[in-house]
Amino acid sequence: MKYIALIAHDGKKDELVEFVMRFHKFFSQVPTLATQTTGSKLAEKGISVETVASGPRGGDAQIASRITEGQVAGVIFFRDPMGKHPHEPDINMLLRLCDVYNIPLATNPATAELIARNIT
Ligand code: PGA
Repeated sequence: MKYIALIAHDGKKDELVEFVMRFHKFFSQVPTLATQTTGSKLAEKGISVETVASGPRGGDAQIASRITEGQVAGVIFFRDPMGKHPHEPDINMLLRLCDVYNIPLATNPATAELIARNIT
């Protein structure tokens, strides 16, 4: 079964945790893969996820690589539109590869809900 990747910038991490808890049933049925700090926040709430490196240390690039390997069914990436990020090139690469491989990509809760309701 393919992964749902979960990533949130610092200003959006609480929102992502809240989202995953809200769609707990869906997330208990799919394997999840998260960047390090996002994964730790989820783990604090008892939600276990496989993790890669932290975003600024290459985690987004690792998730992009999993996409190229056909291991990802969807990406939920709550970006902070108000912040600047040192790993912007990695973020853009990840977003681009979602388009290259036609992977559902949600960057806000409204769209993420469509993924959670439609991917089984
Ligand atoms: P983080 O990475 O979960 O390790 O904070 C997310 C990001 O900034 O891309």
